[in-house]
Amino acid sequence: MCRELSLLAIERDLKRTNPGTPAKPGHNPPGSMLFSDVKAVFFDLDDTLCGYWDAAKTGLDIVFTEYAQNGTTPSQLKKAWANEFRTFAKEVKSDAWYERYCRDGGSSRTELMRRTLAAVDADTAQAEEISTRYLEERQNALHLFEGSLETLQALKGKYPLGLITNGPGDIQRLEIEKLGISDFFDSFHIEGEMGYGKPDPRVFTNAENAANARGPENLMVGNSAQHDIKPAQQAGWHTAWVRRPSDVSPSSRTGRQEELPVDMAQPDFILADLRALLDHLA
Ligand SMILES: [Mg+2]
Repeated sequence: MCRELSLLAIERDLKRTNPGTPAKPGHNPPGSMLFSDVKAVFFDLDDTLCGYWDAAKTGLDIVFTEYAQNGTTPSQLKKAWANEFRTFAKEVKSDAWYERYCRDGGSSRTELMRRTLAAVDADTAQAEEISTRYLEERQNALHLFEGSLETLQALKGKYPLGLITNGPGDIQRLEIEKLGISDFFDSFHIEGEMGYGKPDPRVFTNAENAANARGPENLMVGNSAQHDIKPAQQAGWHTAWVRRPSDVSPSSRTGRQEELPVDMAQPDFILADLRALLDHLA
């Protein structure tokens, strides 16, 4: 029952949330300042500031069209990649892979491509070349969402800003460089550089120390309920959950966005456009 009620509340909030215009939280009176006690703001990167899954889908479409071989179709390759991704995304967090994954995104990206080709009986000798082309095309297609730049510009200088992102150190840095957003941030908390990532509580303690702000003086803005919102709630932070229709992995079985897990409290705010934050920050 509680689960149903919380999902209904989200649906209600989402219906009121019109992407591209400021969102209003359903449970707050108009004009209220949700985040008046916030002194530092932290953003997730992928699918919060920029459209990572959209870029990944574009990259995969391009390379699988280029490299479809021996009667294998791009759609078979995409399906095989998605299938292998579901297993390998967990495996890279194991002892066998994690250190390499943190240091060098190319090793795990190429291994996933090798497994994809093997799954459709294609020539795995091309795995590295296809993997490199995929990175190039994914990077080409990676863009900030409308409103991201405006939000960072509005908040810069008013709050210490931090970036908290999971993924290999080299790849996350490449993304930051491509997007041109490095100068907005006072601190960077990158999984590959720390050797641990969200939802590890150490990530949030590090961020608090960097901004010299404690618990509810911090705001986490992110698209992942499990990796951004839940651990931030556990650290006593304010939370803003970003939900966009584009936030669906190429490996998704349902084609739908992540739902709020049953054991999680409601985030303080649900939004589809980062500019909606500006109504609730000084
Ligand atoms: Mg994300």
